[in-house]
Amino acid sequence: MDTFSKSERSEIMRRVRSKDTSPERKVRSLLHRLGFRFRLHKKDLPGAPDIVLPKYDTVVFVHGCFWHRHPGCSRATTPATRREYWLPKFERTVQRDAANQAELRRLGWNVVIVWECELRDMEELERRLENAVRHGGDGYEQDEFPIPMAAEARAVYGDGEN
Ligand SMILES: [Zn+2]
Repeated sequence: MDTFSKSERSEIMRRVRSKDTSPERKVRSLLHRLGFRFRLHKKDLPGAPDIVLPKYDTVVFVHGCFWHRHPGCSRATTPATRREYWLPKFERTVQRDAANQAELRRLGWNVVIVWECELRDMEELERRLENAVRHGGDGYEQDEFPIPMAAEARAVYGDGEN
């Protein structure tokens, strides 16, 4: 019994294929290699995270740098034409991402964003993801040596001297 029309079915297949290609799949196999068990696209969570690791209270989004506006990334270009079309579109995406992430954190999830450009260095991404999943946070090196604390310590020291 076929409950879908032909066009519905081809749309579903297109989505299935698109979910299963490229960056997201690479991140999944990386996590799998690291021995983490996960679920995909939990629709009942804000923003339907691409990968959910229930055991570690961690969700992972694999974000394209262009659409999701990876800060400081060369791939997050702004098209020269039709800026009145692109800019509000980007704005909405960024705001929606931020709202979803805030809500997920409020619900107790550790939220990890993998940017597409990070797939250029799989070794580094693997190090970061393992760190983020096992220890929480985003797993970037600077988390281990927070610069603001060092600056604060210097300021206190300076005050003492004067
Ligand atoms: Zn990027």
